[in-house]
Amino acid sequence: MTELEKLNREIISCRKCPRLVAWREEVARVKRKAYKDQEYWGKPVPGFGDPNARVLIVGLAPGAHGSNRTGRNFTGDASGGFLYPALYRAGFANQPMAVSRDDGLTLKDLYIAASARCVPPDNKPTPEELNNCQPYLERDLQILKPKVIVCLGRVAFERILKIYAIRNPSWKFAHGALYKLDTNPLNTDLLNTEHWLLCSYHPSQQNTLTGRLTVKMFDEIWTKAQELVKDE
Ligand code: SF4
Repeated sequence: MTELEKLNREIISCRKCPRLVAWREEVARVKRKAYKDQEYWGKPVPGFGDPNARVLIVGLAPGAHGSNRTGRNFTGDASGGFLYPALYRAGFANQPMAVSRDDGLTLKDLYIAASARCVPPDNKPTPEELNNCQPYLERDLQILKPKVIVCLGRVAFERILKIYAIRNPSWKFAHGALYKLDTNPLNTDLLNTEHWLLCSYHPSQQNTLTGRLTVKMFDEIWTKAQELVKDE
């Protein structure tokens, strides 16, 4: 078993946050009417993608009836319906469709993780829950050693700043903001290795339906990520 597989196995069996354990199981039991005949995943959602990825996406947390139902990041909801077509256009995914764990989707040079691995009520994990989950993200970073980290939304951005112990007030979250990370407190092997932090608005309906995040704006993020890995 690889380190990544071991990590994902640990994530799936995690019960560190009582509120989130109760919520993920309740959502899986009550279900949404449209999915009442389906068996929900109802557990923490592990990382997904290419184990040799140079680009790591850090999202917020599973969607109640998306990945908490299907067991795979951004799969089966509107956020994934916006994300995967963009990844496909940029060459990171073999298909634009993501509906279930066995739909044939594979990622190339890209891996997806999250700030919290369990669905939170109102999409809002507490600071304590994010802290509980942070070691899993740190291990993803240690194993993958990504060249580019793409933060989808402010929560993910702030989590990465916390992990990298960055307190520079000029580092602010904005769509398209790009920062160079030249130290990594988690792994001294990476000291002075150039890697990047790229920010994007999260592809939630709250952003995509309001026009805050457009297809063009999102495509620019993935084009930039491809450029950064090509410049290696
Ligand atoms: S959010 Fe993370 S730390 Fe909390 S129960 Fe889920 S997997 Fe465990």
